[in-house]
Amino acid sequence: MQHKNFKNIDKVTYGRGSFNQLAETVEPIRKENNKYFVYVVDNYFKGKELVKRFQNKPEDLVYFIDVDPHEPTTEQIDSLRDEILAKKGLPSGVIGIGGGSIMDIAKALSLMLTNEGSSTLYQGLNLIKKAGIYHLGVPTISGTGAEVSMTAVLTGPEKKLGLKCDWTVFNQVILDPELIASVPTDWWFYTGMDTYIHCIESESGIRNNAFSLAYGETALKLCREVYLGENSGQTPENNDKLMVASLMGGLSLTYSEVGVCHSLSYGLSKIHGTRHCYANCIIFQHLGDIYGSAHTEFMKMIEKHKIELPQNLSKDWDDATLTAMAQVSLNLPFMWHHAFGDDWEKTVNLDYIKGLFKRM
Ligand code: NAD
Ligand code: ZN
Repeated sequence: MQHKNFKNIDKVTYGRGSFNQLAETVEPIRKENNKYFVYVVDNYFKGKELVKRFQNKPEDLVYFIDVDPHEPTTEQIDSLRDEILAKKGLPSGVIGIGGGSIMDIAKALSLMLTNEGSSTLYQGLNLIKKAGIYHLGVPTISGTGAEVSMTAVLTGPEKKLGLKCDWTVFNQVILDPELIASVPTDWWFYTGMDTYIHCIESESGIRNNAFSLAYGETALKLCREVYLGENSGQTPENNDKLMVASLMGGLSLTYSEVGVCHSLSYGLSKIHGTRHCYANCIIFQHLGDIYGSAHTEFMKMIEKHKIELPQNLSKDWDDATLTAMAQVSLNLPFMWHHAFGDDWEKTVNLDYIKGLFKRM
């Protein structure tokens, strides 16, 4: 068995108000390359008070990006890279401020500023040829674990696949729980459930181990306090916890694997464009026979926070659509292997997966 060997984030700052340390944190890097920074920022923050706290210099480039029309694309990264290099040459670093989409844009941009050609050439594991430039992530919504992962997920003309290598991992992350206070309740729920599901899937399968469980159990305890505890809800104390849970959930799945929900989620997202965390919630509500008590707990959280998930989606999916969705899921054999063990192929095939999608 090959044991996983992953690079971690070089440095992490955590705490309320830690965003104020951004400028001093990047100051030593400013002497690199053409001595300026590129900020990629979720459009939500345009005109908001946070922008005044960037302490960016006049030479820096600040891009506000609307992440809602679509998840990050290869074309978007390529044209942003070309524009930046044409304007001012190689920056000292990239600073990403936003959710999972912005984290992925910052990571991908850092790599593509030094690797020639289109980002479509590098979608996959260890295809990147050269180290990217310094990149720093400031998450403003918690759950996906994109702040800690070694992948920058991009949708290209042919595939939705990450630029995945050691150089993808952030050099620095600043975790300031104050920044997630403004997340709308539905997103707070969906993204937090992504963490919850990462931990449940990581522990419910053959690849779990003491290392992945230690992170997963801590993250699960935090999720339970945030979504089910006496003081559940979007309070400052809970935001402190959720930000840590997201990072630890990401580490848990990194050292184990995700399972049935994530495998189906890729099928749903790929064919219908459903957002990752939302897709997971739509699916997990139907996996009671597979995830037992975790499913019961998930349904309690849905009820407690009055979340309404869409029902009967599959009535609009013909056989060809279901087959296409199931094919995407079946192409993730390591997730099915983790979830069902060495004999997974005795249970899991195209028809079985189509059956799971028909529940939705
Ligand atoms: P997101 O970045 O897509 O943002 C979701 C919404 O929340 C957007 O409308 C955004 O404007 C808004 N938002 C963000 N911060 C806010 C704040 N503080 N206040 C108010 N609104 C705010 O959300 P996400 O779910 O974190 O990220 C999804 C993306 O992450 C997808 O593109 C997916 O492919 C990717 N992803 C990456 C990894 C990874 O390991 N790299 C893992 C899972 C998912
Ligand atoms: Zn996920």
